[in-house]
Order: sequence, then C-alpha cells, then structure tokens
Amino acid sequence: MSRGVLGTDKRGILELGAEKKVGWDEVPQGVVLHSFEGEIGNTAHIRPEEREYSQFNSYIASVASWRVIKPVYNRDICIDCQNCWVWCPDTSIISRDKQMLGIDYDHCKGCGVCVEVCPTNPKSLLMFTEATENDDALAGWPEKKKKAKK
Ligand code: SF4
Ligand code: SF4
Repeated sequence: MSRGVLGTDKRGILELGAEKKVGWDEVPQGVVLHSFEGEIGNTAHIRPEEREYSQFNSYIASVASWRVIKPVYNRDICIDCQNCWVWCPDTSIISRDKQMLGIDYDHCKGCGVCVEVCPTNPKSLLMFTEATENDDALAGWPEKKKKAKK
C-alpha cells in the first residue's frame, strides 16, 4: 500500500485534513513533514517504540513484506557485544541496557549485515528463509566449529 501525503497548495505548509492526498513526487518544495507529534525536545531520551510518531515517519510503516530472508537470533550463544546493534543499517536490532533482546521484524529488511558482524562461534544470528519458523531455526542451530589443527 502506498502512503499518500496530505498537502496543500501553500508552499511550506502541511495540514492534516487537507483537501487531497498527493504522492511523494508531488509534494511541493519546501513542505515540512514532521516526524513526531507534539513536543520533540526529549525524543532522544524516549525509547523508539514509545515515541509519538507522525504518519510521515517511516517507523510506523512495516517493511516486513520486502524480505525474502530474515535473521534469527539465538540468545543462548549471544555475548551482548552490541556489534549487530551498531552495524544494522535499519536500526532493527532491539537492545536495552546493553543487552540484545531480538529483531524488530517490522523494520528489518533482511540485509544480513548483523549476521556478518556477529563474532560468536557459532554465530548468534543466522539468516533463514522468511517462511522458516524461528523455533525450527533454533532447533537446527549449527554446533561450534573447532579450529583446524596445524
Ligand atoms: S538483517 Fe539487516 S536490517 Fe535486519 S536486523 Fe540484520 S542488519 Fe538489521
Ligand atoms: S553481534 Fe552477535 S554476539 Fe554480539 S550482540 Fe549481536 S547477536 Fe549478540
């Protein structure tokens, strides 16, 4: 579903309830699309899922249907190094107080970067097809690889 933008003829003014919806390529130059509702001063201190997003913020849209493969997270192996959180280009690693909690599947696009940067052996994140049940993925998790003897 494409998300229409509410716009007016007045450059730089955007009002909810405007006369018509326009596509992203019809938005007048200079129009302001606010990311948050109300006061935004303390947004940086509010957890992402508790912020008051406006309808123009991409956070309120799910991109789950874009994925064909997804990362699955294995808590038993993770060492909470936060590498995946730092490197995820879509801020889709959920971490609290330096503890990895899981994947935000509404916003993860399945790029696999988090798996690449995970340092554990075996990895604590692995990619699976979108149709794979997470429990099945965890049940078949690979064993630790032994170092080859020299
Ligand atoms: S697959 Fe990509 S978008 Fe999804 S959590 Fe990993 S790094 Fe982020
Ligand atoms: S990179 Fe791997 S070990 Fe580090 S926090 Fe993420 S899942 Fe855990």
